[in-house]
Amino acid sequence: MRKKVVIVGGGIVGCMTAMELVRRGCEVTIVERNQIASQTSGESSWAGGGIIFPLLPWLYADAVNVLTHHSAETYRQLSERLQHETGIDAHFEQSGFLLLPKFDLAAATAWCNNNQLLAQPVKASAFAVQSLSGEDALWLPTVCQIRPPYFMQAMRHWLEQNKVTMLENTELLPLQQTAVLNSWQTLNGDILTADQFVVTSGAWSFELLKQTSAQLNIKPMRGQILLYKPQKNLQQIVYREGFYMIPRRDGYLLAGSTLEDVGFEAAVTREVRDEISAKAQAIMPALKGLPIIKHWSGLRPGTPENLPTISAHPSIENLYLNTGHFRYGLTMAPASAKLIVDLMQGEQPALDARPYACL
Ligand SMILES: Cc1cc2nc3c(=O)[nH]c(=O)nc-3n(C[C@H](O)[C@H](O)[C@H](O)COP(=O)(O)OP(=O)(O)OC[C@H]3O[C@@H](n4cnc5c(N)ncnc54)[C@H](O)[C@@H]3O)c2cc1C
Repeated sequence: MRKKVVIVGGGIVGCMTAMELVRRGCEVTIVERNQIASQTSGESSWAGGGIIFPLLPWLYADAVNVLTHHSAETYRQLSERLQHETGIDAHFEQSGFLLLPKFDLAAATAWCNNNQLLAQPVKASAFAVQSLSGEDALWLPTVCQIRPPYFMQAMRHWLEQNKVTMLENTELLPLQQTAVLNSWQTLNGDILTADQFVVTSGAWSFELLKQTSAQLNIKPMRGQILLYKPQKNLQQIVYREGFYMIPRRDGYLLAGSTLEDVGFEAAVTREVRDEISAKAQAIMPALKGLPIIKHWSGLRPGTPENLPTISAHPSIENLYLNTGHFRYGLTMAPASAKLIVDLMQGEQPALDARPYACL
């Protein structure tokens, strides 16, 4: 008989976990409090920038970079497969990444050399970025992006085609300590049963599990983004000191984002809008006076050192966690999904699972 799995949370991590479980023959249900692949109240996956790269990888532990690297390698093929099977183009692009000062050039080039990532020291003025003169920059031509709302739509479509049940507008209640998890109750009083459960609830994961013995250190970290449509767009992702701009294929330009420790408050603020638009205009003066087409936020599942938990629950049988991907959940989701499903199926994981264990 096919194994029945319930996934709690329909962001990119939950959807990608579902795809992997389907591929391995499971009967899958995703339970989502809101709507999968839509912008509602703070979910991170719709809101993200879509850069498939950990911004400054030399600042992170190997355990972070292993996941981002293994995932990034699969994105082109994954996007093509989704487009082929669903007809939805997720706007995968190899747009490259221009790193502007100040940054640690020695650390950056050493890391790129050690990790076979193409990196070319350049003058920023070689690129079509107004206001940048002869600044010493670093050009990473192989960095890619996706368009998160389109990627989520494509995944949703694929999951529907592959008979994944989606229980939307359905919230699961915080879990009580138990030895074996055979069922889980929804806010409406329904009881869901399964052979295995996986928590992929992003920033809300700790709230769901805090009455169990799992030591989860996950809290929401808000990020805000602005959207422009300049007459002449950038041709590459541009990054300067914690701030980035992402040009889209259809002429839009994202500018962001912030890292704000404000709990579950998902509202956008005028103060941050002004701050982001000043930074964007400093790189691209032509944005001055242009309307801000959209301003949104998302709540990232923040974790110390950006290290996710991809693991069996330490004391509840049949319960697994795939959560806490913080700033790079879009990037990490494919490798993270493979790893959790390896663990759920008792297979030898392709990656070392120890750094992501739940204590
Ligand atoms: C502004 C911004 C920019 C970003 N840019 C990038 C980027 O360029 N590259 C990158 O790799 N990453 C980026 N990220 C990070 C990335 O978006 C996140 O790491 C990733 O989306 C996390 O995915 P998730 O599925 O874990 O969480 P979410 O997308 O938040 O999904 C969790 C889901 O669980 C549901 N849920 C919660 N509790 C319950 C419950 N009790 N019952 C049922 N459902 C529940 C929620 O409604 C939600 O839909 C960015 C994030 C933000 C906010």
